[in-house]
Amino acid sequence: MKITGIEAFVAEERLHTPFYFSQFGFDRRQLCLVRVTAEDGSYGWGEGYGPAKVIRAGIEFLTPLALGENPLYVEAIWNKLHLRALDYARRGVLVAAISAIDIALWDLRGKLLGQPVSTLLGGRRREQVQVYATGLYFTEAADLPARLAAEARAYAAQGFRAIKMKVGLGVETDLRHARAVRAAIGPDISLMVDANHGYSFSEALRFAERIEPLNISFFEEPVSPEDYEGYAELRRRTSIPIAGGECEYLLAGFRRLLSGRCVDIAQPDICGAGGLSEVKKIVALAAAFQTNVIPHSWGSGIAFAAGLHLVSTLDPLPGRLRLPEPLLEMDRSENALRDNLTQPAFHLRDGAVAVPTAPGLGVDVDLDYLAQRAVD
Ligand SMILES: [Mg+2]
Repeated sequence: MKITGIEAFVAEERLHTPFYFSQFGFDRRQLCLVRVTAEDGSYGWGEGYGPAKVIRAGIEFLTPLALGENPLYVEAIWNKLHLRALDYARRGVLVAAISAIDIALWDLRGKLLGQPVSTLLGGRRREQVQVYATGLYFTEAADLPARLAAEARAYAAQGFRAIKMKVGLGVETDLRHARAVRAAIGPDISLMVDANHGYSFSEALRFAERIEPLNISFFEEPVSPEDYEGYAELRRRTSIPIAGGECEYLLAGFRRLLSGRCVDIAQPDICGAGGLSEVKKIVALAAAFQTNVIPHSWGSGIAFAAGLHLVSTLDPLPGRLRLPEPLLEMDRSENALRDNLTQPAFHLRDGAVAVPTAPGLGVDVDLDYLAQRAVD
């Protein structure tokens, strides 16, 4: 069996309501998918996290190295692609391109073997994965705290038991927003905050001190992803668990984050940090540091399905009789691509989403919809 085709697609949808976070704004959503086809006509889908057109160029660069290879040799192909990219891309979008091809190969391998990806990863520990809602971005609404409170109430009404909001505009503004959201959802729903590295160390420390009474489940990307010492120092000085890793790449990147004792929760993006092959190793490395993994997820149903399969196999640390459930991020911000590009749809039940059972990732792409939204 040989790989006979690798095609990258960029799709785009404009937003009805532009939104922003501490770094930049969105007026559209774009994503890059890849389809890897084998000589018997079976295929797998993958997705890259980051600037879609740049990832597509990366996939085109890597394609000749994977064509003709055996699609079951997923990690052998990964090593070949990584070695070719290493001189130019120890981090960044070429790693995302490898990630996309790798995820497509896991999907394809699952279909060829007639097994869901979770089985290939070692076997699922649960049929449903607890998810948290990511939303609560900033908009130009006249009364932003009230708008955020209403959005948070809607997530609670939909059944989410954990919700993450954006911060990073400034300590006082962020406190005003967080208090409005906590008041809206009450004390029983987990609330997390994500600064997207919008704070200096001293701002992050002051914010952590001020927000502690709101019972925050984790504080994500408090400071620059380059400030490993700042992460570690903040972690020593607050009782709020510190999360990070969505801007980190590969096993070597996570080695630095973990050995520096920077985070309580590691958040690799499967579509960016190296694909399922590499994130499986990152999970193992994190376990050696007694650190739990909650994958970052921001994309289509392909990215989300990869996350469901991975998280279905995780054992939370430390082991004990009554374990908490591991979590997966579920982006709820406006994204028609995410909602329409793949089938079947994902449904929230009791704060959780069922792991697909079909071979591979268990999701397929609507080719007509993709063709309508494709960007050249
Ligand atoms: Mg984040």
